[in-house]
Amino acid sequence: MSDHLMNTYSRLPIAISHGQGAWVWDVDGKRYLDGLSGIAVNTVGHAHPRLVAALRDQLGKVIHTSNLYRIPLQEALADKLCALSGADRAFFCNSGLEANEAAIKLARLHAHKRGVDRARIIVFDNAFHGRSLATLSATGNPKVQKGFEPLVEGFVRVPLNDAAAVRAAAAANPEIAAVFIEAVQGEGGIRPAQADYLRLLRQLCDEHGWLLMIDEVQCGMGRTGRWFAHQWAEIRPDVIAMAKGLASGVPIGAVLGFGAAADTFGPGQHGTTFGGNPLACRAALETLAIIEDEGLLDNAQRVGDWMRKRLGDSLGAVPGVVDVRGMGLMLGIELDRPCGALVARALEAGLLINVTQERVVRLLPPLNLRQEEAEHLVALLIPLVRAFLAAEPAAA
Ligand SMILES: *Cc1c(COP(=O)(O)O)cnc(C)c1O
Repeated sequence: MSDHLMNTYSRLPIAISHGQGAWVWDVDGKRYLDGLSGIAVNTVGHAHPRLVAALRDQLGKVIHTSNLYRIPLQEALADKLCALSGADRAFFCNSGLEANEAAIKLARLHAHKRGVDRARIIVFDNAFHGRSLATLSATGNPKVQKGFEPLVEGFVRVPLNDAAAVRAAAAANPEIAAVFIEAVQGEGGIRPAQADYLRLLRQLCDEHGWLLMIDEVQCGMGRTGRWFAHQWAEIRPDVIAMAKGLASGVPIGAVLGFGAAADTFGPGQHGTTFGGNPLACRAALETLAIIEDEGLLDNAQRVGDWMRKRLGDSLGAVPGVVDVRGMGLMLGIELDRPCGALVARALEAGLLINVTQERVVRLLPPLNLRQEEAEHLVALLIPLVRAFLAAEPAAA
């Protein structure tokens, strides 16, 4: 491997040359079932013919123009995302951290306009919001933060799904601007915020004039079987951040604002050069159209439910398995011991998976995973997990 790459990733020793649907091939011709979609990015799988045709067409027209001009594809994408979410306005950027950074700025500006000068944002244990200074400060993982101090101030951290803790934080901090939460924690180990808890947060935000900001970067875009994971709780947020799966692999991020939150930024208060360019917006619009035309929300729910049940039935009672959980095609198998070694074993067996929080096997396959592919996936994974648990010593 080239030594001219900065040492930010410990990479697995394969290089993918191409893909088709839920399958990829490495440069040596070995085939893998993609149980990860580039971390919830390849929403419609690899080389989807409609996406390829749309991107080819767009490449021949225009890739980038600049937000100094109107961008019709960006306007169309904003209209579409607002229709799907109930939001009023969208801002486009290029990644998850950028969407979250914009949300944090929006919350502070919104609070300042209300006369709250030292606005604080409630965030959660095990949260992941990105790796810019503000978003790593909002993240609830010391490994992400260590060495980058001083952190950005203005975050108040509480445990997830703990009503008393968030009420206590509210009582102790008069200058709160917002609650910022993943509807389903991804990097944090596939941990859903309970529907009742999200409804309580909505109620607290209404009582105190705070913004409810949902990080849907990983759990949005249909992954849980609804367009947005918070929609299962039937709540209306003030801000949604999205990115990963929005354009099936073309970099994009978006912040959606509801009501007053949508009108917070004025000209010159936020911006980005690439954000919302014609290529990225075309990819997102085509991805959304494919999800609709191919019924992929239903597919994610149906195939995901089947997988969760199958994994639960065969692994739930195995000593060493703590929990099998998730929603739709966002699934986690929590073990009682570090299991990073499973990733290489799965690779060997022709399956791409991931381990997060050291002990949670994470599955994020494309939303168009077929039932027979799901069966193949669990048939590969179940014996690997069993063999791993039988051979590896449990944590002390
Ligand atoms: C991946 C992720 C981010 C960061 O997105 P990047 O595109 O890597 O900056 C933020 N929030 C959540 C929930 C994520 O899963």
